[in-house]
Amino acid sequence: MKRLKRNQLFFGTLLMMTFLLGTAVPALAGQTPGVLDCVEGDSVRGWAWNSSDPASAVEVKVTVTNQATGQTEAEYTAPADDYREDLVRKGTGTGNYGFEVIVPWESYEDGSYLVEAYASGMKLSSPKVHSVGDMQVMSSDGSAGTLRSLGVFKTTGYCPCSACSEGWGRHTSTGAIASANHTIAVDPRVIPYGSRIMINGVIYTAEDRGGAVKGNHVDIFFNTHGETRAYGTRSAEVFLVQ
Ligand SMILES: [Zn+2]
Repeated sequence: MKRLKRNQLFFGTLLMMTFLLGTAVPALAGQTPGVLDCVEGDSVRGWAWNSSDPASAVEVKVTVTNQATGQTEAEYTAPADDYREDLVRKGTGTGNYGFEVIVPWESYEDGSYLVEAYASGMKLSSPKVHSVGDMQVMSSDGSAGTLRSLGVFKTTGYCPCSACSEGWGRHTSTGAIASANHTIAVDPRVIPYGSRIMINGVIYTAEDRGGAVKGNHVDIFFNTHGETRAYGTRSAEVFLVQ
């Protein structure tokens, strides 16, 4: 029972994270000195700069916080001085602002961890959640499921409009009628049809596909095109619920 309680807490924390990421971060994006781009395996990468001193490299601090206890488990620092072509293309100074820190996840206990980065005392945008080991969640039908991370995927949205659905409306490729907070389109070679998939605390079912949905990409169904546009293109850790 103790295990279950902690997992419910975890699920609640994820829901809260969804709320925080969905609202607070975009509002702050203009003020932050960089972005935490990704957590891929042990590698945590992003970029940071001091716009008033673009010739100098800033030091980045990455913190790893246990979401169950709220305790900061470790801090890692690295200079943000790697060349990034994409930053140059966006007109961000010399582009020498990339950073990477290595987080040895195998030394961490199973759990869910919040990864945040700071430069010049300010938080970089797009904090990430990383899970270690298997975790359990309560599904909406009350059954427990084990989570297995499939990694960080590109996530986009679609709706029943003719442009998004290619004229299919709510009719999915599996015959199911699409509904919000439930239906996702996947590449069935990567995520088999019928899989239950958790993204940012919501458990979806893989029951559709799309011409543009290839590889590590999930297309999330929304009721309206406005919600679809507001969602845009994001990246999120995708979990298989078993
Ligand atoms: Zn649409």
